Amino acid sequence: MKYRLIDLLACPICKTFPLQLIVFNKVHAGSSDTIKPCDEYCSYNEKKIADLKSEDIPLDCRGCLQINIVEGILICRSCLRWYPIIEEIPHMLPDDLRKEVEDLGFLTKNKERIPQTILTEGKPFNLSRSI
Ligand SMILES: [Zn+2]
Ligand SMILES: [Zn+2]
Repeated sequence: MKYRLIDLLACPICKTFPLQLIVFNKVHAGSSDTIKPCDEYCSYNEKKIADLKSEDIPLDCRGCLQINIVEGILICRSCLRWYPIIEEIPHMLPDDLRKEVEDLGFLTKNKERIPQTILTEGKPFNLSRSI
C-alpha cells in the first residue's frame, strides 16, 4: 500500500481518522506524475493538512505515491485495534473474521517495532498472556 491510503482510510470498526502507520519495510515504486496533495492527513509527512494551510507551507506528497509499504501495522488509537500490512496489502477485517494464531504470530515476529500498548492491550488479539 501507499502512504496515500492513510488519507482515505478510517478505522473500519470505530471510524477514527487518521490511523497511525508504522512501516517495517518499504520499497521505491518508481516515479509518479501525480502531485495532487493529500486531502486531510498526510501520512508520509505526518502532517494534518489543515495545520499546513494555516502556516502556508507547501506539501511535497510525491513520497505518498512513490513508495510501496511492504510490511507494517496500522493502529487505531481510539479502540486500540491494529491491522497488519503484509506483502503490501492492509488486512482490515472485522474481529470475527480474524485468525488469532496468525495475528499472534504477526505480533510476535514484529514485537520490537510495535508499541507496547498494542502488544499488551491491542484488539482483537494481543500478547498479554505470553509476555
Ligand atoms: Zn501526502
Ligand atoms: Zn478504531
